[in-house]
Amino acid sequence: KYYNMVEDMKGKIRVFCRIRPVNRAEVAQGGAVVVEKIDDYSVTVETPRGPREFQFDKVFSAEISQEELFHDTNRLIQSAIDGYNVCIFTYGQTGSGKTFTMVGDKEQKNPGIMPRSFNAIFDMIRENSNKFDFKVSAYMLELYNDRLQDLFVSLAGEAHAQPQSHGQARRVEIKRNRKGVVFAQGAETKEASSAQELYALFQQACANRHISATKMNVESSRSHLIVGIMVESRNLTNGSVSSGKLSLVDLAGSERAAKTGAKDHQLKEANSINKSLSALGDVISALSAELPHVPYRNSKLTQVMQDSLGGNAKTLMIVNISPSECNLNETLTSLIYATRVK
Ligand code: ADP
Ligand code: MG
Repeated sequence: KYYNMVEDMKGKIRVFCRIRPVNRAEVAQGGAVVVEKIDDYSVTVETPRGPREFQFDKVFSAEISQEELFHDTNRLIQSAIDGYNVCIFTYGQTGSGKTFTMVGDKEQKNPGIMPRSFNAIFDMIRENSNKFDFKVSAYMLELYNDRLQDLFVSLAGEAHAQPQSHGQARRVEIKRNRKGVVFAQGAETKEASSAQELYALFQQACANRHISATKMNVESSRSHLIVGIMVESRNLTNGSVSSGKLSLVDLAGSERAAKTGAKDHQLKEANSINKSLSALGDVISALSAELPHVPYRNSKLTQVMQDSLGGNAKTLMIVNISPSECNLNETLTSLIYATRVK
């Protein structure tokens, strides 16, 4: 049966589930594996009360390569070129493989969705360059404690940054233009004319993110990373212009409470993350229940993602989970969150 995922996806939210491999620490603990892929669409989790099954649009086991995973997202990238708003985000507890999935490993031996989509965008542009003129630009933001930070602006020269304020950089506010497209007012948008240029911008953003996290002594996994790539195309025959946008979001770790002995700023951090992730869950479930009111305004995260959730947008959530018993509770919490979408 022919199945056009991208066409079917308009306004809908698809959910993939990716199980990461068992890691060395888990092996050392002798930790049992409690998560198993049953088929391409379901996983089962062994709980103390018996097995629990969860269904997804696709399930990826630990052996699946970055390339194979990207293969299933590539058509979404094409949609952004075609003028749609597309959003791909990773959800899960810290250590579950969100950044690996979105960005890749540190050495970039196994690049993830972001670098691969930079290449895919410019490959597709090249293929269509006889019919269209393209312009690609990007903003890269970090959302920490309800503050948006422009990652193109370096905090390197700043003194006395406080965890509470997350630096004193320019204020970034989320606005929408007449067409409903979200833009980050006060944040820089930079043009890129090749995948290499876009990747260089991304590396610069990551370096700034690292500097600000280090300065404030916070973990970068406690903030949301938001990359927006705008693709504008002008038809060379009739001059008509269309614009699409690819939003790639590596969410902060979803783990519940801060560990015992958490400092004030860690509690504030945890509250802020919980608030934004539950606001995102509320938006997603309102959309899938087709409720008349979708509560986008309840957090900065949902405001930033508004033009990529609902309407004509195509959204893909990837829920990343650990296979091990020691993470059972967080895994169940993530899977339950992800199935709210259905
Ligand atoms: P998160 O961003 O959710 O906190 P990471 O992506 O940083 O988690 O993953 C934690 C560790 O596990 C990293 O060292 C990462 O390289 C590794 N890892 C995660 N997923 C995979 C995978 N599918 N294959 C191999 N290594 C992985
Ligand atoms: Mg991470």
